Amino acid sequence: MQIFDAHCDMLLKLWENPKIDVFKDDRLHVNISSLKKGNKSIQCFAIFVPENIPFSQRLSVAQQQINIFYQKILHQFPEIKLLKSKADLEDLKEGETGAILTLEGCDAIGDQIANLELLYELGIRSVGLTWNYANLVADGVLEKRNAGLTNFGREVILFLNRQQMWTDLSHASERSFWEALDLADFPITTHSNVYQLCSHVRNLKDEQIVALFRKKGVIGVTFVPFFTSDQSKPTIATLIKHVDYLCSLGGENQIGFGSDFDGIDETIVGLENYSCYEELANELLRHYSDTQVKKFLYRNLVDYLPF
Ligand SMILES: [Zn+2]
Repeated sequence: MQIFDAHCDMLLKLWENPKIDVFKDDRLHVNISSLKKGNKSIQCFAIFVPENIPFSQRLSVAQQQINIFYQKILHQFPEIKLLKSKADLEDLKEGETGAILTLEGCDAIGDQIANLELLYELGIRSVGLTWNYANLVADGVLEKRNAGLTNFGREVILFLNRQQMWTDLSHASERSFWEALDLADFPITTHSNVYQLCSHVRNLKDEQIVALFRKKGVIGVTFVPFFTSDQSKPTIATLIKHVDYLCSLGGENQIGFGSDFDGIDETIVGLENYSCYEELANELLRHYSDTQVKKFLYRNLVDYLPF
């Protein structure tokens, strides 16, 4: 079974806990042994710099996490391949796993496109404009003033368009979302659910979903319990309601998954770690055809890779 997971925070966890064994450690939701089971699966690895890191150190922390990715993952496991181009994807062989580096929030780049260029050179191929708060690019979803893009933010999106990278609008304030959607050639929300089903501020309202679909963008349905249900203890069946809803808005070819594994403390019942994707696939197959399930789990995101 091939899985394309558009968001995990494994690198953050490894950066915070240097002693974790990347191959197999109970503290990890995603580990290398479970990743390797999915033949030619693709995992996105986010670089995330926590809010408490002083501005002057944020780029350095991003680089430290990228270093962890190279040293502890790529160098130790030659069967994990960094995907920087379509050719890299086509070169994946049986038994290999593709890895995509992503940036969650532009805080690390300050106000310098050169910093973004550097991260691009190191392999980053998808960029979230913000985390929950404001930075020099845009406002995040918890920033009460709900402002949109800065002039620099517009420059950032034009850069992403030129380099054929995803502009990730998960975490963006509503105004940032609309302004960025207008400008971005390859908009995506890698880990957000449906607001109509769960009224969390991180989720997408119907107008946003429809507009994103109209721009050919993909929504990564996420396993964060409190983005999945207003009630406690959501299950896989609760999560699938988000898939059903997105399909009802015409998204059959624009739904993927972005687990947020290793970025969450609580998990959906039945989706405790990466290996549970199998259960999700089985449950999806009770509602959808084999072809549809393959699209949701893998194909839609692959088809939307801009590079
Ligand atoms: Zn996130």
